[in-house]
Amino acid sequence: MKPSLLIVFTVWAMSILTAVPSHAEEWKEIKDKHFVVYYGSAMSSEEAGRLLRQAEKYYDLIARQIGYARYSNFWTWEERVKIIIYDDQAAFMAKTGQPAWSKGYADRHPKLFESKMIVTYRQEQEFFNGLLPHEISHLILHDFLGPQTSVPLWFDEGVAQLQEAEKRAVADRLLQRLVLEKKQLPLPVLMELDIRREKNSTKVTLFYVQSLSVIDFLLTQYGSDAFARLCRQMRDGKSFAEALRLAYGHSFDSVQQLEDKWINSFRN
Ligand SMILES: [Zn+2]
Repeated sequence: MKPSLLIVFTVWAMSILTAVPSHAEEWKEIKDKHFVVYYGSAMSSEEAGRLLRQAEKYYDLIARQIGYARYSNFWTWEERVKIIIYDDQAAFMAKTGQPAWSKGYADRHPKLFESKMIVTYRQEQEFFNGLLPHEISHLILHDFLGPQTSVPLWFDEGVAQLQEAEKRAVADRLLQRLVLEKKQLPLPVLMELDIRREKNSTKVTLFYVQSLSVIDFLLTQYGSDAFARLCRQMRDGKSFAEALRLAYGHSFDSVQQLEDKWINSFRN
């Protein structure tokens, strides 16, 4: 993820309350089945409508892709996700207290997930193809796994990138080469990596592309039903390794075997 864009969603838990539009401010709103967009004067109603349609489209795509649509009751009317669009970066920073230098991979904030909010500011097309589906995917996955489940970081970020088409293409090309040169991270290392503390930028890049690639491999090769079973086992308290065995036992029953099959997929 590009650091400059990451800033947008790095909203600290502390600032959540101040990020919510108050009635004293001039906010317009537009809503559909799962989302309500609050926007300021810089955004036209056409733009807001386009954003809302995109959000709904991504919701359906992602929910189906990871098998959530089959199990969940879907977010109800009262629990719509709020998408809050400030007019510009300066207003966003002033209201959320978000520092301009903040560019860590810190888009996991429990309070943000609980309150189902995406807070950002008006920007270009890249937002629609990148951060919007990314954040919606995080929200759906967390809803699927429930508030008690601590989602492994790599798993969370792998799912979040699924609808970022450009990133998938880059990840494929990069990993094709890295796997041939045997320079990929071993999966047990990937799965333990705490990217929030990682200073090595190559490792950070590898973390993101490999996380995406492994999740993409599971979904492409074995489908969304198996993936949904994996998520449900994790929700029921199983570790990733146990959940993997229970959901994919016919195909592989350990992280090592998953790694072997994933690596082989680059050799075909
Ligand atoms: Zn993320």
